[in-house]
Amino acid sequence: MINIGVLALQGAVREHVKALEAPDVNIIIIKKVEQLKEIEGLVFPGGESTTMRRLINLYGFYEPLKDFAKQKKPIFGTCAGAILMANEIVGQMEPHLSVMDMVVERNAFGRQRESFEALLKMDSIGDDVQGVFIRAPIIKTVGENVQVLARHNGDIVAAQSGPFLACSFHPELTDDYRMHQYFVKMVRESRIHA
Ligand code: GLN
Repeated sequence: MINIGVLALQGAVREHVKALEAPDVNIIIIKKVEQLKEIEGLVFPGGESTTMRRLINLYGFYEPLKDFAKQKKPIFGTCAGAILMANEIVGQMEPHLSVMDMVVERNAFGRQRESFEALLKMDSIGDDVQGVFIRAPIIKTVGENVQVLARHNGDIVAAQSGPFLACSFHPELTDDYRMHQYFVKMVRESRIHA
């Protein structure tokens, strides 16, 4: 069995739990810092990054999450979760957890396009992945060790850097769980290499 956590401070938690289900996966809803010890991979859901950050600080998660990333344990962030992972946020002085070398811009698709769906061609995953975008960020640039996995109209919407996976859309809101399966595979493999 592998233990994968979903950070449950705010946002779409239940949908990720459903999307991660697999015979060899035990999913743990993370509400307390101590639970981080039990897991080998972690999902940051979508929601509101500023609220999530406030709760991360309030419940003492900041250092433990930095530590989790330092140990190179896999993390998958969707939408607000991806914003938490970036090392730079356009217009903000400070990033949040700064685990991935990328610049994100929040709410970057503009008012008319607050939410929309698009089919995405994703490296290693498929060429017809359904992307649900809700007040989504754009990944403006990525560092040289970060691989771009998908673009929408030229804008980067998914990327991976070793054990860290981020996308600006919500794969958990569709019934296409290939991205979650890809993440579960990353966690399985990280365990072999640990
Ligand atoms: N706009 C939100 C933020 O900046 C993200 C939206 C989402 O996760 N659906 O955190």
